Amino acid sequence: MGFGFLGNVFKPGTADYEKANNIYATSTYGVERDMNPGLIYQPVDIPDIQEVLTIANRSDPFTPVAIRTGGHQYSGASSTNHEGIQLDLQSTFRDPVNDLQMIRKDGKVFIRSSVSWKLQELYNFLLKNGVFLPTGQCITVCLGGHVQTGGYGMLGRSFGLLGDYITELEIVDHTGTEVTASKTSNQDLFYGFLGGSPGNLGILTHFTVEVQDDNNYQGSKGIGSSKVIASSLTPYAKHTGSTNSTNLSNNNWSAWFSRQIEKATKTKGLFVSSQIQVYGGNNSMFWKNASEATAYSWRDATVVGTWDVFYNNAQAAAEAWQKDTAAGALTYFDSNERRLLWGSYDNWDMTQVWQHYYDRTTYQRLQQIRKTHDPNGLFTANLFCVQAAK
Ligand SMILES: Cc1cc2nc3c(=O)[nH]c(=O)nc-3n(C[C@H](O)[C@H](O)[C@H](O)COP(=O)(O)OP(=O)(O)OC[C@H]3O[C@@H](n4cnc5c(N)ncnc54)[C@H](O)[C@@H]3O)c2cc1C
Repeated sequence: MGFGFLGNVFKPGTADYEKANNIYATSTYGVERDMNPGLIYQPVDIPDIQEVLTIANRSDPFTPVAIRTGGHQYSGASSTNHEGIQLDLQSTFRDPVNDLQMIRKDGKVFIRSSVSWKLQELYNFLLKNGVFLPTGQCITVCLGGHVQTGGYGMLGRSFGLLGDYITELEIVDHTGTEVTASKTSNQDLFYGFLGGSPGNLGILTHFTVEVQDDNNYQGSKGIGSSKVIASSLTPYAKHTGSTNSTNLSNNNWSAWFSRQIEKATKTKGLFVSSQIQVYGGNNSMFWKNASEATAYSWRDATVVGTWDVFYNNAQAAAEAWQKDTAAGALTYFDSNERRLLWGSYDNWDMTQVWQHYYDRTTYQRLQQIRKTHDPNGLFTANLFCVQAAK
């Protein structure tokens, strides 16, 4: 390459490229959304990341950069087409000493972690150190994206979101400069990264998060995690919705939803997976932790539901089932169709669908933040992102 980049660079048409390019959404959107970056860079450290940004900024026109860590974004948004490049951080920051540390300060416990760990690796570290924090369930998800989109999981009602406990983000910005963001410095970046527009504001390398001490929760045994919820090789039609309804117990929702699940199980080639999580109530920490400092949407949720069908030679049936379920959900679950960034995207052109993901005030603030922190659109690698304000 003729410069100081130390990591791997993979070109299309090679076996290494094919392997690196096989992320969760490839099975479903690899062709339709052209998830084939011009080059895939796997940096080994921050100077390597800066080198890639220099190259991307130097070309005319500049080369859009898609940021990927665990590659588990269901919509395919951590990839891009041949005009862009992908910065793959899954192996970049895995030093067991420098990239995952316990910090005890003022009677509180924190960890400073890199983005490159998988949830399973984080769980092992937490268990060893007698601490815990709320996260989602899939053990192969990486922290790079997960920290930003929340961590919806079984501890959601009792502890809120992972992002609620983040105290500092370490970021490489579009110029290659290292910056930190917290509730008291670079507040806009902090807001935009946590619940905003993942992968479109800069490159997250590390973060600090407050964790809970097991000793304060006697009898707690930690949570077991699901192995792999579904194979990444199986295509899917997916939806994750949120409702603030308090009427689900008597509006016939559960009877309707059970019938939908049954229909899927009886359709040849479909395999259904659903998670229903309860978040509401006056004592809910999901409600209480809602903060102006972060951009997480729909913090008045009572229930969050995921309904996915995976299919084998049955794409039309999967899409028909998802369409039918979406129509029913408008009646029984949520008439506003409030979606979550990490799990729903029937149309991934954000300009068409942003109202499903953000309220107007949040979206407009995020647009301003994008204009300031990604002024040239370097991190616009695909359509699933908040558009910068004009
Ligand atoms: C099988 C499965 C189960 C899941 N279960 C849950 C669950 O229970 N709860 C839940 O909350 N979520 C869940 N998710 C969603 C998952 O947590 C998010 O999609 C998460 O963002 C994935 O992070 P990643 O780094 O693995 O993915 P990636 O695809 O690499 O990244 C996701 C997004 O974040 C951006 N990004 C990634 N790394 C960085 C970085 N270092 N700097 C800046 N931007 C970055 C990407 O550009 C992309 O837009 C699940 C996903 C899958 C596939």
